[in-house]
Amino acid sequence: MAVVKHPTGNPTVLRQLRYGNVERVLQVLRRQGPSSRADVATATGLSRTTLSGIVGQLLADGVVTEEPAGPPSGRGRPVHRLTLNPRSAQAVGIEVGRERITVAIANAAHEVTASAGTHHAQRSGAREQAGAAMELLRDLAAREGIDLAGLGGVGIGTPGPGDTTDRRQAVADAVSEALDVPVLADNNTRLAALGEAIWGAARGAGDALHLTLSYGIGGGLVAGGLLFRGAQGAAGELGHISVDAEGPRCWCGGHGCLEQVAAVPALLRAAGRRSWERFTEAFAAGAGTERAVVDRAALAVGRALAAASSTANPRRIVLGGEVAELGPVFLGRVEGAFRRYTATRVHRGVELVPAALGERSGALGALALVFHESPLLAGYATAEAVAPQEDTAIHAS
Ligand SMILES: [Zn+2]
Repeated sequence: MAVVKHPTGNPTVLRQLRYGNVERVLQVLRRQGPSSRADVATATGLSRTTLSGIVGQLLADGVVTEEPAGPPSGRGRPVHRLTLNPRSAQAVGIEVGRERITVAIANAAHEVTASAGTHHAQRSGAREQAGAAMELLRDLAAREGIDLAGLGGVGIGTPGPGDTTDRRQAVADAVSEALDVPVLADNNTRLAALGEAIWGAARGAGDALHLTLSYGIGGGLVAGGLLFRGAQGAAGELGHISVDAEGPRCWCGGHGCLEQVAAVPALLRAAGRRSWERFTEAFAAGAGTERAVVDRAALAVGRALAAASSTANPRRIVLGGEVAELGPVFLGRVEGAFRRYTATRVHRGVELVPAALGERSGALGALALVFHESPLLAGYATAEAVAPQEDTAIHAS
C-alpha cells in the first residue's frame, strides 16, 4: 500500500460518499459527453436536490460549464448542457527525483493537460522540495490557464525502497497541507512503470515489467494494468536480483546485485571514467573498453530480466534510464541475452521496448496512481460495486 495522507486525518464516510456522487456525475459526462441535467439524473439515479447541490459546486469550482445547447424551440426554455471543463485540474502527479522535480496535471476527462519540470538541489529538505513542487505547479497552472479549485487528489513519487520512507512521508504531508486534498505517495520508479503502462511504451500490454537503468536500478511490475507491490512493497525491485554469486555486497544487504554491475556508477568504475558524458561519447565512437563494459552489463540485465520473466510472464518489458538511452546496440545485446536465458514459451510472446515518456514518466505514473487508488476519486468504483443506491445511503439515518 502506498503512503496515504488525508488533509484532515481520516476522511469521513460522508466526505467519501459526497465525492463518490461527484465522481459519479463526472463519469457520466466523461462517458456521454455534454449532457443535460435530466440526462445526468437518469444516468446516476441521483435525486434532483442532490444533483443540484453537486452541479452547483462543480460550476463554482469551474470543473464543469453549462451552456445552452441551441436556440430555444417554441415556448420551451432552452436546453442547457453540462460539459467537463478541459482547463480544470482533477488530479496532479508529482515526481521529486534525485535531481529533478516534475509535475503533471490531468483534467476530469483524465487527459493530461500540462506538465513541467525543474532541477532542484539534491540536498534540500523535504519541506523545501514540497515547496518547490508547489511553486512549479502554481506557475504551470497560471501559465496554462488551469484552475486548481476542483482538485480531487495528488500522487507523489520519490526515490527510496519499499512502501514508505521518512522523506516520502514528509513530502506527502507538506503537499497535502498546502493543497488540502488527499495525497498518495510511492516509489518513483514503480510509478514510472505505471505511467508507461497507462500512457507510454507498455500501453495496452496489461502485464509489464519496467526497468530503469540509471545511477541506481529500479523496477516495477504492472499486473492487469495495476501496480503490483508485494507483501512489503518490494515487488519489481529488479535492480537487486543477484547476477554475480561472488559479487560485491550491495547496500540493500544482498550480494552481486544487478545495480552493482549495470548502473551508471558501475559502468564508470569498470571503464575507469568519471563522467557519464565522456563515457557515452567514447561508447558512441566505438571505444573497445566502453563497448566491453556495456556488453557485460547488457548480459547481466538480460539474465535478470529472464529470471523475472519466468516468474511474471510479462507481455512487454520496458527499459528506461541513462544506460538504456545508450540506444539500439545496448538494447539489442540485452534482448539477445534475454532470449538465450528464457524458456521459449516465455520469451516467444514478450517484446522489449525502450521507455517512451522520458522525464515525465514518474509524474504521469503518480497521476495514474490517483485515478486508480485515491480514496476519493477511485472510491466511486468501490461504492458502485457495493451500494448502487448511495443517494439513499446518505439519508438513511
Ligand atoms: Zn542490492
